[in-house]
Amino acid sequence: MDTYYVIQPMQIWLTYFAFTAIIIARYFLIVWPIHWMLWKRPADKVKARRLSKREPTAATIRNEIKLSTISAFIYAAPAAIVLELWKAGGTAMYAGMPEGLGGWGWVLASAFIYLFAQDTWFYWTHRVMHHKKLFKWTHEGHHRSVQPTPWASFSFDAIEAISAAWLLPVMALFIPIHVGTALTLLMVMTINAVFNHAGWEVYPDKWIKGWWGRHIITASHHNLHHTKFKGNYGLYFRFWDKVCGTDVGLV
Ligand SMILES: [Zn+2]
Ligand SMILES: [Zn+2]
Repeated sequence: MDTYYVIQPMQIWLTYFAFTAIIIARYFLIVWPIHWMLWKRPADKVKARRLSKREPTAATIRNEIKLSTISAFIYAAPAAIVLELWKAGGTAMYAGMPEGLGGWGWVLASAFIYLFAQDTWFYWTHRVMHHKKLFKWTHEGHHRSVQPTPWASFSFDAIEAISAAWLLPVMALFIPIHVGTALTLLMVMTINAVFNHAGWEVYPDKWIKGWWGRHIITASHHNLHHTKFKGNYGLYFRFWDKVCGTDVGLV
């Protein structure tokens, strides 16, 4: 006889609130020390290149923290549902040691597929949200930070958060991904978002002028999106910006 797993609504709520708390804790635990290292120490001690001309204002940071906290409640919902489905055996996530070259090869390939899919989704929805009829109620909150700070890394209007939050959990239903890869990617995504909004370029100039800077989005690239409002719509890779002619300001 088949075994059926029943997901208890109460359990989903518990997981949902736990996820919300974890996302908020993760945000403060990662953003606060980076913000402190870049903005709270004498500039000559900071091993990075400053991009934002002005010091961040308290009002900007307050807005960034408020929107990021609201986003946490939105991002937690699909993640909680997928975690409960995983426990019930209903997703494509797997655990255990990857087997052989194929197993490890897929760990790398799946990481790239997830990042590229997220980058593609982000690029196109981001461009749509910049349409003048949509901007005000979908994406204006994020752009209140003309000179962003690390606290802006998760500051989205509710509609933007809803458009982005479901993608990776739904992919995890269909495209096999190791639970360790998923956790690593979540960490990479968070740190990438924090550094891209830091107001400082933390990568060495040599990297920015070399292969890394030509293909990967860093603060030098994304800061221009915040100051110019136009162009540089990508998330991780400059691929779509280059293909569509929206890449501005960098070589
Ligand atoms: Zn934008
Ligand atoms: Zn941004």
